[in-house]
Amino acid sequence: MKLQLKGLEEGVHFLQMEGLPEEADLGDSGLEFASPIMLSLRVVRQRETFWVEAVMRASVVLECARCLKLHTEHLESKFQIVVRRGGAISGWGEGDVKTMAPDAEYVDITQEVHDFLLLSVPMKPLCSEDCKGLCPACGADLNEGECGCHMKRIDARWEALSKIALSE
Ligand SMILES: [Zn+2]
Ligand SMILES: [Zn+2]
Repeated sequence: MKLQLKGLEEGVHFLQMEGLPEEADLGDSGLEFASPIMLSLRVVRQRETFWVEAVMRASVVLECARCLKLHTEHLESKFQIVVRRGGAISGWGEGDVKTMAPDAEYVDITQEVHDFLLLSVPMKPLCSEDCKGLCPACGADLNEGECGCHMKRIDARWEALSKIALSE
């Protein structure tokens, strides 16, 4: 994805960008996107230095870690970069600044979008904070009601009786 620098005057700019997962090298990430990748950018230009703050949003379809149901998760993450056209700033670490040619018309932010979007994917996605998950005994979705396994375990005598009843 390319952030256009051309035409940005000195001062503060608020920009919107939209990209497909493929444009951020996320086409083969295994993630199923339910929306394009949306970026809200604040760019401050001071001479040939551009301070870029990006807020990134996207929706992906994930499997709940407890009940295994697919749900749409709304991702949000932020990143900042500094772009400098025509040479490095003395005293700055090299990793802090992207140095561009003096006549560069855009800066490629594919890597940042790719990395920070992946970082915002939860390790244990949940369909809701209070998802009850699946019954370990019968596999029923406990969000849809009690399956009864719990009750059976409490009354072991009842279970013993029901086995006798079945064997007869
Ligand atoms: Zn769930
Ligand atoms: Zn059960």
